[in-house]
Amino acid sequence: VSFADLGLSQKVLQAVEDAGYSQPTPIQEGAIPHALQGKDVCGIAQTGTGKTASFVLPMITRLERGRARARMPRTLILEPTRELAAQVGENFQKYGKYHKLNVALLIGGVSFGDQEKKLERGADVLIATPGRLLDHSERGKLLLTGVDILVIDEADRMLDMGFIPDIERIVSLIPFTRQTLFFSATMPPEIQRLADKFLQGPVRVET
Ligand code: AMP
Repeated sequence: VSFADLGLSQKVLQAVEDAGYSQPTPIQEGAIPHALQGKDVCGIAQTGTGKTASFVLPMITRLERGRARARMPRTLILEPTRELAAQVGENFQKYGKYHKLNVALLIGGVSFGDQEKKLERGADVLIATPGRLLDHSERGKLLLTGVDILVIDEADRMLDMGFIPDIERIVSLIPFTRQTLFFSATMPPEIQRLADKFLQGPVRVET
């Protein structure tokens, strides 16, 4: 299987070729076609497996239709740490180099003002840690009712860090009509219960 067989757009394929990748990894091969069809995905994969591109590439392809409105991000990616959030942001720069995407990062250590300006312009992609996201949402600077694609990444680390109540609150602000992509390195019962709650008829991809 080659990247061209997965259904990604030409511009995304060009960026992948520029990155020098010759073949999709197993998680990419398993997740990308379903994610492009709008299905929910439950991916069980460690860091280092190419997991990030397995959600970033189909998201960029799906974002080609439509545009963002002020304070209403079109997609939301939740990460447990600011480092991981920043890495995902770099992935959008790399794979979205032929697109004009407004990517906003809501993480601790960055001023509220700069982050609010990005949200005000309309974010195609919002990447956030849970606490900082709730701060903005409570300040009324952010509406999650326009989120079409939600990614919960590193769910087992979110659990370890005590973020599950925050995640539940955030997810309750997003319409059910969304697509949800859920990733975890391991699937203990508590994480499985969360996946069952957030996902609708998911495709399970294990690597
Ligand atoms: P991740 O698991 O998302 O942290 O990715 C691990 C590393 O694999 C990153 O440095 C990516 O740039 C790289 N990578 C992602 N997809 C591929 C691929 N299909 N072929 C080769 N390297 C890749």
